[in-house]
Amino acid sequence: MAEKKEKVERKIVKVEGKKEGAGKLRIAAWILWAVAIVCEVVAFLILNGTIYVPDEKFTMMLLIPLIVDFVLAFIGGQLWKKANDKDPASKKEKFKFFLQNQLGLIMTLVCFVPIIILLLVNKDLEKGTKKIVSIAAIIMLVVCSLFSIDWNPASAEDLAAAEGAAVEFGADTVYWTAFGKSFHYDQDCHTLSRSKTVYEGNISDAFAANRHDPCDHCVPQDVNADADDEGEEAA
Ligand SMILES: [Zn+2]
Repeated sequence: MAEKKEKVERKIVKVEGKKEGAGKLRIAAWILWAVAIVCEVVAFLILNGTIYVPDEKFTMMLLIPLIVDFVLAFIGGQLWKKANDKDPASKKEKFKFFLQNQLGLIMTLVCFVPIIILLLVNKDLEKGTKKIVSIAAIIMLVVCSLFSIDWNPASAEDLAAAEGAAVEFGADTVYWTAFGKSFHYDQDCHTLSRSKTVYEGNISDAFAANRHDPCDHCVPQDVNADADDEGEEAA
């Protein structure tokens, strides 16, 4: 059994990301959000009777545009986060940094909060329908929000610092895994030893893959730490 400790058979997959893709992702996210808002409006028009649907189909017909709203807002939020990973915002302007990173959450609120309020204050709606559709919409709001929030956004300064450090240490290629949140300079780093598949690329590829945390073991810490502290001191 002791022999099992030896190196796991490993596959290294080369990744070549493109920074230019960020603009297209953002446009796609905006289009999806726009259509999602149209779906919300359709749900509203069904709710207030502008669009007529027979009573026996009412619950279903009200749920359909909300489900489409959810799917579009959800995908829009993911594309937006992906764009920010590829092309992070500068944290010099705090409000803009917040806005760009959390726009997915803001648009989720836009796509759901108005219709949820209208559902809840509607007095003509049949009780069963009101309960089902309101609960469904609130669940969709919560799920979409949780997935659209960027919990740990990188900044343009983080990327610049990491790129500078990589040049300084001659780390043209960095490594990351499917589940770990760090990037590594050393493909033989012991924290990678259990991973069968390791991805490699340059620093901006690692950031695009949302791996912007320098490994504690194989990446010298001083240079990357600078960018993180700057924001706090300015506050
Ligand atoms: Zn490492």
